[in-house]
Amino acid sequence: MGKLITLILLVLLGVYLYRRMTRKRDAAAAADAREVPAAEDMVRCKTCGVNLPRSEAILSAGRFYCCDEHRRADS
Ligand SMILES: [Zn+2]
Repeated sequence: MGKLITLILLVLLGVYLYRRMTRKRDAAAAADAREVPAAEDMVRCKTCGVNLPRSEAILSAGRFYCCDEHRRADS
């Protein structure tokens, strides 16, 4: 009887540790997914100097601008 209880406890411990490991890995993967947008290149508007993601910037003649107004103001 004592052996059976020990075996059950070992199995429960194994399941607990396995779940904890996989959950940690999932959380790390989720954190990586969240960091992807933040890792996007930041560029600086040549007119006002504001930093913005490259995907939101306006590129003109190799220079970045935050909006069309600033692009026209610089050229
Ligand atoms: Zn600007």
